[in-house]
Amino acid sequence: MTAAPVRTTCPYCGVGCGIVAVPDRCGGAAIAGDPSHPANFGRLCSKGAALGETLSLEGRLLYPEIGGQRVGWDAALDAVADGLRDAHDRFGPQALAFYVSGQLLTEDYYVANKLIKGFIGSPNLDTNSRLCMASSVAGHRRAFGSDTVPGCYADFEQADLVVLVGSNLAWCHPVLYQRLMAARAAHGTRLVVIDPRRTASCADADLHLGLAPGSDALLFSGLLIELDRRGLIDRAAVAATASGLEHALTAAWAAAPDLPAIAAGCGLATGDIARFFDLFAQHERVVTAYSQGVNQSSSGTDKVNAILNVHLSTGRIGRPGMGPFSLTGQPNAMGGREVGALANQLAAHMDYGDPGAIDRVRRFWHAPAIVTGPGPKAVELFERVAQGAIKALWIIATNPAVSLPQSDFVRRALDACPLVVVSDVMRWSDTVARAHIRLSALGWGEKDGTVTNSERRISRQRAFLSPPGEARADWWIISEVAKRLGFGAAFNYRGPGDIFREHAALSGFENGGARDFDISGLATLDDAGYAALTPVQWPVTTSDHAGTERLFGAGGYFTDDRRARFVPVTPRPPAHPTDDDFPILLNTGRERDHWHTLNRSGKSPRLALCAPEPQIALHPMDAQRAALADDGLVQLESRWGATVARVRVSADQSCGTAFGPMHWNDQFSSGGRINALGHSAIDPVSGQPELKAIPVRLKAVAIDWEATALLRDRLAAPPASYWALASGIGHWRVLAAGSGEPAAAVAAFAATLPPGERLALQDRAGRRHRLAVVEQGRLVAWIEVAPPGTHTDVTWIASLFAKAAALTDAERRALLAARAGPSTAPEGPIVCACYSVGRARLRRVIREREIGDVPGIGAALGAGTGCGSCIPELRVLLAETI
Ligand code: SF4
Repeated sequence: MTAAPVRTTCPYCGVGCGIVAVPDRCGGAAIAGDPSHPANFGRLCSKGAALGETLSLEGRLLYPEIGGQRVGWDAALDAVADGLRDAHDRFGPQALAFYVSGQLLTEDYYVANKLIKGFIGSPNLDTNSRLCMASSVAGHRRAFGSDTVPGCYADFEQADLVVLVGSNLAWCHPVLYQRLMAARAAHGTRLVVIDPRRTASCADADLHLGLAPGSDALLFSGLLIELDRRGLIDRAAVAATASGLEHALTAAWAAAPDLPAIAAGCGLATGDIARFFDLFAQHERVVTAYSQGVNQSSSGTDKVNAILNVHLSTGRIGRPGMGPFSLTGQPNAMGGREVGALANQLAAHMDYGDPGAIDRVRRFWHAPAIVTGPGPKAVELFERVAQGAIKALWIIATNPAVSLPQSDFVRRALDACPLVVVSDVMRWSDTVARAHIRLSALGWGEKDGTVTNSERRISRQRAFLSPPGEARADWWIISEVAKRLGFGAAFNYRGPGDIFREHAALSGFENGGARDFDISGLATLDDAGYAALTPVQWPVTTSDHAGTERLFGAGGYFTDDRRARFVPVTPRPPAHPTDDDFPILLNTGRERDHWHTLNRSGKSPRLALCAPEPQIALHPMDAQRAALADDGLVQLESRWGATVARVRVSADQSCGTAFGPMHWNDQFSSGGRINALGHSAIDPVSGQPELKAIPVRLKAVAIDWEATALLRDRLAAPPASYWALASGIGHWRVLAAGSGEPAAAVAAFAATLPPGERLALQDRAGRRHRLAVVEQGRLVAWIEVAPPGTHTDVTWIASLFAKAAALTDAERRALLAARAGPSTAPEGPIVCACYSVGRARLRRVIREREIGDVPGIGAALGAGTGCGSCIPELRVLLAETI
């Protein structure tokens, strides 16, 4: 019998979709979109829809550990407190640091921030959101005087023109993209995509501007001038709500005096730029949405302000269907900003530059050791760890050994740090592997609190599963350490509701309308009210307040004179340009169906098979110059590190650039960690690292064989120089390659296999080997080693691992042929995760049935009729196949 449904929130991206989870009482749950949630109205993307596949306890950290040995909570918490106290007493508060995460709930975030900044007395707390949206925060604060997202998701539906800048919305915020596509179908919303890559979001665009990496600020400077030239800037109206326009125009004129200059700097045709300017000028209802392509830059803050300048100049802000819109990557990046969990913030959108804020927060918290200035931002924080200035580092819910640039350097820093404490859900993590003390945290589905999405909407995450093992809530773990440090009175919370009320009260404390973040209307919620809290957009200033859809429609910015500020922008190229030694500029980002460092999405078979190994997209000319074939292996080298990945030759990639995913790590690949290549250049204002412009060179990797291994049990270190691991239903899939004799490779794999009946096949030339292991009638391993580029489609073999019953005689006989019969056709890489429809089958059916549109594919195969995340790729496939 199933339990009652629980309304909660998706733990992946910043769209913040509502979910209805129905626990099955066996540790799992059925997952569906919440029709009543205003972010998604029942929709889910492929990642959200597959959440039910990520709930297993495989790989979980279930108990605290010291030195790799299980201990009780008292021992673990005492050890953390003793370690922090010792570092504090010997070296001062600056020797302590916390590195936290946009995966945390707001209540967890609040307690961590309060402990270190108010009670330990160290400003050294930063969050992995620094890698994601710090430039937006800084740009907002320069322009608005506050970190405020002015608009809401409904603006995407009410706009006449949506401009996506550095955002592959179709993959990275899929449900918002679906809302946009529905609006486009209903009333013809125009769409412009500004991105060096031709991404899935371009499939429906009216115009794609494939500009040179880093030239966004130049393009928007040109747009500002063009709007002025066309008389669309009403100076009197602007002066009433903003200041500094003339300085911004002067800077823009210097950078982008005319179309040829912009075209030369952006690498675009003048006609395309003019078309974009026409579209922008002709539509008042414009949303400019931007994301990591803007933020992750050494000039990210200026890029943000170049966009904000354009909207401020035409008053297109805070009104229905118009405004700049920062898309947050993580589920609770906004919550972290709200509590002050960035190194340059204090608490509740108060910072060190606000006179009186430090004393205000000190008095509110009764803090004995309030910090008085900012701490180091993420990249700098780990540099201080490497220098030995930070002696005790507590990492909570994040994986910096994979996600920070120069990740080899970060690993060395962690290895040298005297005390590394990691609170995490998983035991498999490159960072957890380096911890002296491991603290087992609750995962999604088990924890309780709030998150805030990109449109300032606070939603509840509610527990629908019991805590496994001895996992505990992050707020509880931090509070227990605080008590052991002698701060019990300030951390004596009964539950997340207590923390939320305190957080809400602080937001309204001595506020009086001076600060944008004010949810004091929620400070009086009782436990029942907190439990039942429905999604609401801040500010919420009174207990009967319904929330705030938009801000700044009539001005009212959070500056001294309540007017916004134009920021003069001088466009700058990436910090490290390409040169003869490193001629390709690498851009890093996400796959559609993976998330961060794979700890959650890597558990889902239907997500894993859409991208089972790290792939580097290259333009055909660049691949040819480097003698790289599609589907071959490439070693990428930068001045800071190296990685190996599969080659994907694609004309969507502009010449001279490459794209690689951020997800792979030591747990899932032999060397696919893309951030090993990254450098430490950061934006001087926001401190955000430049993850999208890394000069690299390409080298073909010579191999003699490739292997596909399907294994019931996870293999920690496959015996191959190259390997990648992906989950399947009832098995793990290893894709591997190496040099030497194939027979030796088979023998090496065979040595890792469990006992059982072994069936083997070797072709006459000795180049293709297959080996199957059957135990008690069930298939437990199947391996093929073959010449490069001659993979066998293993769809049918994989299906045998999902069978509850023993193999039939016919299946046993067919194992080494790898197909059930002559009619078994290849599936190919999975495109539709919901219905497991592969590229090869899609092409075949499109051709055979002469299908001409996406609904036709849906009718034939179901693809595209589930979450809809694959629809942009189906469109591309149709265009390529017909
Ligand atoms: Fe989750 Fe997808 Fe919604 Fe993002 S768009 S919150 S990943 S379901």
